[in-house]
This record gives sequence, C-alpha cells and structure tokens, in this order.
Amino acid sequence: ARLAYAFIGLGHLGGNLAASLRRNGFAVTVFDRDPAAVERLVALGATAAASPAEAARAGNAITCLPSPKVSEAVLAGPDGLLQGLPAGGTWIEMSTNGRDEILRLAALASKKGIETLECPVTGGVHLAAAGRITALVGGDAALYERHRPAIEAMCAKSFLMGPVGSAAVIKVITNMLAFIHLVAAGEALMLAKRGGLDLAQAYHAIAASSGNSFVHETESQLILNGSYDIGFTMDLALKDLGFALAMGRDFGAPLDLASRVNAIFEEGKRAYGGDAWSTKIVKLLEDAVGT
Ligand code: NAD
Repeated sequence: ARLAYAFIGLGHLGGNLAASLRRNGFAVTVFDRDPAAVERLVALGATAAASPAEAARAGNAITCLPSPKVSEAVLAGPDGLLQGLPAGGTWIEMSTNGRDEILRLAALASKKGIETLECPVTGGVHLAAAGRITALVGGDAALYERHRPAIEAMCAKSFLMGPVGSAAVIKVITNMLAFIHLVAAGEALMLAKRGGLDLAQAYHAIAASSGNSFVHETESQLILNGSYDIGFTMDLALKDLGFALAMGRDFGAPLDLASRVNAIFEEGKRAYGGDAWSTKIVKLLEDAVGT
C-alpha cells in the first residue's frame, strides 16, 4: 500500500509540491499557519490538521519551511512532528538548510527514533508547479527507496548524494551558482541596454549563445517584463548565500564571487525589502544605469 504523508509548509514551493503529491493519489494531511494555504490543498482533497503533531499521525512527514529555525520549531517544538510521528516514521525535509543545520535537526529526530531524509529541491516554483523540479537527496539508500514513489510524484529527477548533509552541500552550491548567474545576467542585460541593443533580441541571442544559463533563460524575461516574479524572496537568497559562505569557511574553499554577490543581495534587501523577489536584485543595476 502507498505510504501516507503529512505536509507542513504550503508556501510558494511547498504548496506546489504538496499539490503534486495529492494529484498523484497520495493521502496527504496538511498544516500551515496560513489558513488560505491550507484551503488550497483541502480543495485538492488533502485533509487539514490542527498541528504538526496531529498531521504526523499520517506516519511520515514532509516539511518545506522558510528557515532552519522554523523547521526546528515544527519538528521538535511543542505540538511538533516528533510528538506525533509513530516509531519507524520518516521526516523528509524539503526546505533548503546548511549542512550543520540539517545534521543538527536530524540528530534531534534520531533521538526520538525518527529517521531523516533530506530532500531539498532545485528548479524554482514554475518547475515545481509543473512537476518537473529536481530533488537532491541525502540519507540512507533503503530509506530513499522507500520514499521514492512520493519523491517521484513531486519531482522529475532525483539524485541520492550520500548521507544526510550531502544534499545540503550540493543544494547550497547550486543556489550559489544561480545567484551568481542572476547578477551576471543582469549586468549583461544592462550592458546590452547601454550598448543600444534591442533587449528582447539581446535576450534571445544570449539564450542561443555560450553565455546562456538556466537563470538567464528563466529569469531574464521576468526582468525584461518588469514583474520580477520568480516566487523566491531576497530573504531566502540571503539565507542560502549565508549557508554557502559558511561552507566556504568550514571547508577552506575561497568564494570571492559568492561573497561579492552576497553583498549585492544585502544591498538589494536594504533597497527593496527581504520579501521582494530575488530577481529584483537586477533592479539595482537598472536603477544605476537609468532608462
Ligand atoms: P514561503 O515563505 O513561500 O513558504 C513557507 C510556508 O511556511 C508559508 O506557507 C508559511 O505560512 C509556512 N510557515 C511558516 N512558519 C510556519 C510555522 N511555524 N508552522 C507552519 N507553517 C509555517 O517559502 P518557499 O519559497 O516555499 O520556500 C520554502 C523552502 O524551500 C525554503 O527553505 C526555500 O529556501 C526552499 N526553496 C524555495 C524555492 C522557491 O522557488 N520558492 C526553490 C527551492 C527551494
């Protein structure tokens, strides 16, 4: 029989992941502090719970939350998942954490006899909504196999990287690259603008050139149409850049570009606020260049 899942954290990313799980026929019990987010999932046939602990009686629990601090409260706080998960249940963490953070949280779960599968995803909200996002998995291979049907219901591809902690490393690396690419794409577009090019044509030419990137393809259009709506905030970008810089220090790897991009995002947060879309970082450059 199919496993049943609790899903906590139904935001821009989690809401789409939980919807995919539900659409693929899994029994899903949901909790979010935002009632509107819960309603959207109930409309797809999910069951609402009054707390993470109550939802966790489903047997296994998935989380997609905005910070390790919130993940800790939902996992180990009063009325948290560890109060409700039965012995032999699994906690699947789909939020992006640093390596130290996920190891610490997994140790809290382990003390209560709950195994952790870390499963951050990459590709953004639009791919998540289309069921085409990629999962980066850290944990025991047999545990991964057990939950693979659920992971494959939400994600088109998944990569088992190694033990818990290893998925955080690759996830933080891929986000670091994405933020560097975003600033690079913004600089390229502003240079094209100053060079007097038609920006729509410059977009297409770059997309077909050696300078293309996933970020250019997906985000430059949002910059050019002025919406910036990538579904991922400045605060989340700064969280992940912070994890990258911490890893650089811990592992002794130089991260000059990431340090510079982190400073640019801090400036973006000061200018537009932490809730602004991360893509809006390019508006700093647009404002500097003028119209
Ligand atoms: P979000 O802010 O849109 O969603 C977070 C959800 O958690 C919200 O619905 C909020 O109400 C809920 N929440 C917050 N505190 C809670 C609590 N104490 N109890 C219950 N619910 C609570 O964030 P998001 O963009 O969905 O990102 C979630 C995680 O996924 C982050 O770690 C982020 O880095 C990662 N991620 C996001 C994207 C993306 O494109 N948005 C892509 C990859 C990874």
